[in-house]
Amino acid sequence: MLEVSNLKKSFGQLEVLKQISFEVNKNDVVAIIGPSGSGKSTMLRSLVHLEEIDGGSIAVDGEFIVNDGVYSKPQQLKKIASKMGMVFQHFNLFPHLSVLENLVLAPKLLKQGSTTEHRERGLELLAKVGLSDKADVLPAKLSGGQKQRVAIARALMRNPEILLFDEPTSALDPELTGEVLQVMKDLAKESMTMIVVTHEMEFARDVANKAIFMDNGEIIESGSPSELLTNPKRDRTKAFLHRTV
Ligand code: ADP
Ligand code: MG
Repeated sequence: MLEVSNLKKSFGQLEVLKQISFEVNKNDVVAIIGPSGSGKSTMLRSLVHLEEIDGGSIAVDGEFIVNDGVYSKPQQLKKIASKMGMVFQHFNLFPHLSVLENLVLAPKLLKQGSTTEHRERGLELLAKVGLSDKADVLPAKLSGGQKQRVAIARALMRNPEILLFDEPTSALDPELTGEVLQVMKDLAKESMTMIVVTHEMEFARDVANKAIFMDNGEIIESGSPSELLTNPKRDRTKAFLHRTV
C-alpha cells in the first residue's frame, strides 16, 4: 500500500534521512521507535508532503508522490494526499473553532460533499471517539486526551487509507494516554492501516505487527515487534531499549 525507497532529506548540512526504505501493507500497524532527533517526524512529514525530500521515492497504491526525487503534478499529489491522515503530538486543533468545526473544515475547504454530509460524518466520528457531547465546545475546554481524540476523528474525516501518528501520547499526562491508545487499538481492530511513531513500547508490542527502529536518520533494524523489542539484534537497538525500560 505504501512503498518508501531510498528517502533522503537534509536540512542544510544536516543529513536527517539517509536512504530510508520500507513498505507498509494494507492492515499493517507499524510502530516506529528511536531516539529523539533520529528523523522520525521528518520521515512522517515527508510522507504527507509537509517536507520536501531531496531524493528517493514514495508511492501509495502504486502511485508515486515522488519518483526518484521528482514530485508528481499537484493534482495527483492532492489525490494521493487524501489517502493519508496525520495526527500530531500537539494536536494542532484550531483554537477558535469548535470541535465539530475543526472536523468539517478540511472537507469544506476541499469542497468534497455537502455541509450536511460533513456534519453527519463529523458527529459519527465524535461518537466513535467517545466525544459526542463535545461537538460545540472549543478545544480549550477539553483535556489533552480529549483533544487528541478530536484530532484522530479529524484525521478520519476524509476516510484515509493510512493514518500516521507522530508521538500521539507524548504531550499527555500519563493518566490520559490510555484513552488515546484505546481509540488507536480500536482502529487497529477495525483493520485501519497505521504508522505510529511512539515511545509506548507496550502499545508497539501489543498492537503493532511490524516495528522499525530508527537512529541517526537510518533504519537500523526492523521486524516483528516482539522480536525487535525483546530480542534486538543490533547493539544500537539494544542500547536504546535499555535506556527506555
Ligand atoms: P525525531 O522526530 O526523531 O525526534 P526529527 O525528524 O524531528 O527527529 O529531527 C531530526 C533532525 O532534524 C534533528 O536534528 C532536528 O533538529 C532536525 N530538524 C528537524 N526539522 C528541522 C527543520 N525544519 N530545520 C532544520 N533542522 C530540522
Ligand atoms: Mg519527532
